[in-house]
Amino acid sequence: MDHFNLKDGVLHAEDVSLPAIAEAVGTPVYVYSTATIERHVEVFKAALADVESGPAGPLIAFAVKANPNRAVLATMANMGLGADVVSGGELLRARAAGMPADRIVFSGVGKTAEEMRLGLTEGIFQFNLESEPEAEMLAEVATAMGVRAPVAFRINPNVIAGTHAKISTGGSEDKFGVAYDRALAAYARATELPGLDIRGVAVHIGSQLTDLAPSRAAFEKIGTLIAELRAAGYSIATADLGGGLGVPYDPAKPVPPLPAAYGAMVSEVTKGWNVRLVFEPGRVIVGNAGVLLSRVIRVKQGVTDPFVIVDAAMNDLMRPSLYDAWHDIVQVSPTGTAMTANVVGPICESGDTFARKRVMDSVEPGDLVVFKTAGAYGATMANTYNSRALTPEVLVNGDQWAVVRARQPVEALIAADTLPPWI
Ligand SMILES: *Cc1c(COP(=O)(O)O)cnc(C)c1O
Repeated sequence: MDHFNLKDGVLHAEDVSLPAIAEAVGTPVYVYSTATIERHVEVFKAALADVESGPAGPLIAFAVKANPNRAVLATMANMGLGADVVSGGELLRARAAGMPADRIVFSGVGKTAEEMRLGLTEGIFQFNLESEPEAEMLAEVATAMGVRAPVAFRINPNVIAGTHAKISTGGSEDKFGVAYDRALAAYARATELPGLDIRGVAVHIGSQLTDLAPSRAAFEKIGTLIAELRAAGYSIATADLGGGLGVPYDPAKPVPPLPAAYGAMVSEVTKGWNVRLVFEPGRVIVGNAGVLLSRVIRVKQGVTDPFVIVDAAMNDLMRPSLYDAWHDIVQVSPTGTAMTANVVGPICESGDTFARKRVMDSVEPGDLVVFKTAGAYGATMANTYNSRALTPEVLVNGDQWAVVRARQPVEALIAADTLPPWI
């Protein structure tokens, strides 16, 4: 459920009309809904109400990479969420948004010594290590600083997530985690190293998961591993079950499992684990909470279907070109008539195509459209290809709204390059 609805025939974000935002800020622009973010956080918390997770309850660490806007993160920080970060930059952003260090988990296969120092200086909750060499580096960094690093190993359970290959992370040929069969050896190695406090285990098998079975299979393997690790003498206090729950993009497709069903599955599988559970949801919190608002520049005749050329492009929203992702495209002021069209951006790449042969609300030049479900992996992946300014972001809250990232002038982009002395 989201808070983007028609009022008097015009699409609104909560109580704010999208044409008003387009008028004031220009297009393309990302628009987020506070009420939708808050609702999704509440739904996710409620879904976990019955899981066994010790006195502290589960730690919900929002996956910052899904939407790192400071205002979006601060909205979640105010609701008690922590952060799952995958770089020093994300760690600093989470802290700048008011997320407490002791609710921050650091994931990723390529943490550098500098990023490890930052995590240790801040005093984060846990490092999720993805290899033995990474454990060795962290041990060295922690020892040099005279501190101890709380760690878990991310385990690669060799479970096929059934999602797009580029967002599938739990197969044995994927770069992520320590292979399930190597897990005991990795813990043994970490125990030999100075400066590491072994805390737990972690797993994350992929994103936009639309079936609970692969997650269940992965979590069952983690349960078995926890028992094996304890039998071998390791104290396991945390189990991080990652993120990955899918969201509906295409209204014609079955709705992915709801958080409540996910929570019930987790509750069943993790019963008796006697750990604090950590969750790293990203998309399920912010996906439906954002749209990309764009204006139709012109409609060009095609051989079969017309091309609707909009002012948003693959640099603003990469998911279609990167993952063949499907985004619903709707008129801000629908007339009730439909057309079949190819929807494309202005960039000089054939990959700059949002939709082919899409049956959609009919549009004319100057009309506003939105790409729905663009709150996750949208603005965060935007870039300046074709010397296009970075997409601005707006946050709506009831009848209020604010620019939470200003449109960067193209002049700033040009000024960022400097000439060498010989030119
Ligand atoms: C990307 C990522 C997530 C979040 O995935 P979603 O599908 O957005 O929920 C969680 N944990 C890790 C380690 C990730 O890389």
